[in-house]
Amino acid sequence: MFEFLTDRIQDIARRLTGRTHLTDANIRDAVNELKKTLLAADVNYRVVKEFTKRVKEKAIGQKIARNISPGQAFMKIVYEELVHILGDHQSKINIEFKPAVILLAGIQGSGKTTFAAKLAKYIFENFKKLSLLVTTDTRRPAALIQPQTLAQKLNMPSFPESPEDLERGSAPDIALQGVETGKRLGVDVVILDTAGRQILQEELINELKQIRSLVKPSEVLYVIDATMGQDAINIATRFYKEIPFTGVVLTKVDSDARGGAALTVNYITGVPIKFVSTGEHLDDIELFDPKRFASRILGTGDIATLIEKLQKQISEEEAKTITRKLASDEYDMNDLLKQIRLVKKMGNWKSLLSLLPGASKALKNIPDEVFDKIKHVEAIILSMTPEERANPEIIDYSRKLRIARG
Ligand code: GDP
Ligand code: MG
Repeated sequence: MFEFLTDRIQDIARRLTGRTHLTDANIRDAVNELKKTLLAADVNYRVVKEFTKRVKEKAIGQKIARNISPGQAFMKIVYEELVHILGDHQSKINIEFKPAVILLAGIQGSGKTTFAAKLAKYIFENFKKLSLLVTTDTRRPAALIQPQTLAQKLNMPSFPESPEDLERGSAPDIALQGVETGKRLGVDVVILDTAGRQILQEELINELKQIRSLVKPSEVLYVIDATMGQDAINIATRFYKEIPFTGVVLTKVDSDARGGAALTVNYITGVPIKFVSTGEHLDDIELFDPKRFASRILGTGDIATLIEKLQKQISEEEAKTITRKLASDEYDMNDLLKQIRLVKKMGNWKSLLSLLPGASKALKNIPDEVFDKIKHVEAIILSMTPEERANPEIIDYSRKLRIARG
């Protein structure tokens, strides 16, 4: 995530660290480097101009406390301005109304359907509210399988029930029926996943406008594939002129090395980023918080998110037990297995480790195969009996062979 920006901004700060103080000349150099870096990261030039202007003004007027280096002082200013450009405040999702309708829009492949399922899970886990997943893509009835499978996985209802039902009406009909079904089922939220082949086609825009006026959504979330950079921003801006959305969802942030779309979208559209999607796993969703995001861009880690993810999966009691075991000799393969599974539930190794301060740089040098090997370790432990896991020394040669074959 954002390796490109992280590496280069850290380099700029490092070069300043050798200096005794920030002078106008070295600030100018650093800001020029910053400008080049942001443009190379595909950040919109208007954003770059505003951002670097503010950093420069702040840095020049800055009185540095005696105990921090010029590099750290510079990083602090960049951090504050990143938070600002990302929208300042943590987002909220409006789901007060019952049922609250959330309309998802965005081009094909941007991650709408995956996000719809993640959002339903998120809303259930954080607000104890139940969602109905509705698909209105009447042009591709076969595509109904994906949301249906996701809804089943989540144990949540979906609509329509069969491809034939989907073929029976227009998209606005289906949307309205979906909301009616939601009311009948008594769900709290109806998530409307829409078609988006070529979102700017007049036909689809009109269809979305119709849906919007029929279902009166509490939120219209526009889904952007972060890896598309400025192309995505341009399409979003044109879309906004037709259908003003209330929030942006950034997807595939895990595969986005540069961060151009992420740093641009709020400033250019004036609409807050509400959620980010950071992987293909259904738990890879986060409510957007500019402060945490800025920390991650700068590679200073995001311990707050890591702790939150952990607290969802493991009690304080368990955490204490495992820490004690690790410090003594009691930690065994049963514990290791438990922890491997815990990480799996929390997302994946790479995304979790990247939340640690300074980890993003180290992670770059670790090939994905290393993480794949953990699956082998899990399989090996699973081939052992619980007793063998606690006392591996009881495993003899032939048993070892059998486990290895397993
Ligand atoms: P839709 O056409 O907008 O409904 O997009 P889908 O939800 O079907 O997603 C398109 C592809 O992107 C699928 O292969 C998803 O698994 C993948 N995808 C969605 N969100 C993410 C994400 O946050 N990270 C990654 N790496 N892949 C994602
Ligand atoms: Mg879809």
